[in-house]
Amino acid sequence: MGLTTLQHRGQDAAGILTYDKDGFHRVKNLGLVESVFTKDNMATLPGSLAVAHARYSTVGRGDVVDVQPFLISYPFGLGMVHNGNLVNTAQMADELARKHRRRLLTHSDTEILLNLLAEGLSQLGGDNESLSFDDICSGLEMVYSRASGSFSVVVLLADHGLLAFRDPVGNRPLAWGKRPQSGEGALPTGEAHMVASESVALAFNGYDKVRDLQPGEALFIDLQGKVHTRVIKARERRPCMFEWVYFASPESEIDDVPVYGARIQLGRQLASQVRRVFKERGFVADMVVPVPESSRIAAIALAEELGIPYRETLIKNRYIKRTFILDSQDKRKHAVDLKLSPVRSEIVGKKVLLVDDSIVRGTTSRKLVELVRRAGAEQVFFVSTCPPIKHPCYYGIDFPNEEELIANGRDNSQIERELGADAVIYQEIAGLKAAIHAAPGPDAPAPRFTPCMACLDGQYPIDVSAASAFAALRRSDRASSKGGGVGGGRAR
Ligand code: SF4
Repeated sequence: MGLTTLQHRGQDAAGILTYDKDGFHRVKNLGLVESVFTKDNMATLPGSLAVAHARYSTVGRGDVVDVQPFLISYPFGLGMVHNGNLVNTAQMADELARKHRRRLLTHSDTEILLNLLAEGLSQLGGDNESLSFDDICSGLEMVYSRASGSFSVVVLLADHGLLAFRDPVGNRPLAWGKRPQSGEGALPTGEAHMVASESVALAFNGYDKVRDLQPGEALFIDLQGKVHTRVIKARERRPCMFEWVYFASPESEIDDVPVYGARIQLGRQLASQVRRVFKERGFVADMVVPVPESSRIAAIALAEELGIPYRETLIKNRYIKRTFILDSQDKRKHAVDLKLSPVRSEIVGKKVLLVDDSIVRGTTSRKLVELVRRAGAEQVFFVSTCPPIKHPCYYGIDFPNEEELIANGRDNSQIERELGADAVIYQEIAGLKAAIHAAPGPDAPAPRFTPCMACLDGQYPIDVSAASAFAALRRSDRASSKGGGVGGGRAR
């Protein structure tokens, strides 16, 4: 059920690894959670200790071999799932081979993290019984000193417990929850623990969120139910802004900032910009139309703020995979044609303010404008709740390289021409920051962090000097990818 609630984070593949007295049990395959898991194969997954993953590929070829959880037998028996992206994948693969005689079996950065942790733990000495939290933290030093990039990780340590850790800036989300538990397999404390990318997975399964992991923090729950935590290596908190804009489920709270609230605020922030542009250029709009699903909340708030009717006149065919993660330009164009149908009777002769969460390559946006025009709209204005995306992401969101981003090197009027829109209105960076800041509401403390916005302003909070090798790897993985995936960490 946890994977199902996080399906929006990864639709390429899914896997579950469990552990009990008979050893490890694993089921994984390409496809959606409901197609990978059946009643029969779920019955082969006994145990009260498990890790699970829904995969969205950014690195790796999209083969079954790259599907998580990953498993390594020595030391202890470690199973790992990872959300994020290592930037120095090529360097680490080389170092693991040269210095530690560890040859990788896949193209996934998760295997690198797993081998770094295994190497760190294997240098401890001692026997299988003697593993303290201090030892685990020493082993993690190897990960934190070598891995550069974003990582939220959960590890199953056979016969010892469950370990979770988050990268030093907390770029990708990771939340911890617990619930009362009794009966077979229950911990002596009478509690069960769960760590997940989003709080929606905790809540859906009856876990109360305890808190988000801190940047650079390790959390270990041993088999007595005792909880150990320590910050291994932390820097300024820089969670990804795109979680609130698009990626995360609206029911989730990330670093205590509600996603739903942030999207409401994104809509409100946009209203002043729309008013200004409309006034300057003499436009009026008859209706605000969301591009389903992720822009709906912001579009409602924008319509309320502007006092313009909100109309859901683009109807989504829910059975088509999100266009963003399809692996070729042709497939993207085709999918957009199939995915949305306009309600002609409502659109004909109208001036339509179309709201989407973001404009990446522009392929989808152009098709949307065309679709609404073909349905008879008199004018089409395109509003993006995200500011212009001008730089690639190296931390787990599969934005393409710079040259493919429509906002890179083009001014607003060029983008309007490319999209065929009467106006294109972007959120400003200040508006995005203000939206995330105001999202918890007037009675709750405002977040004290500045989110990562590197794809907007080029200010990368994690070193990307190794990024050229990463970008080349991503290109070659795309060229050789099979199935629906384009590359390993995000689910969307
Ligand atoms: S670069 Fe953009 S998409 Fe990537 S982590 Fe930073 S904010 Fe998120």
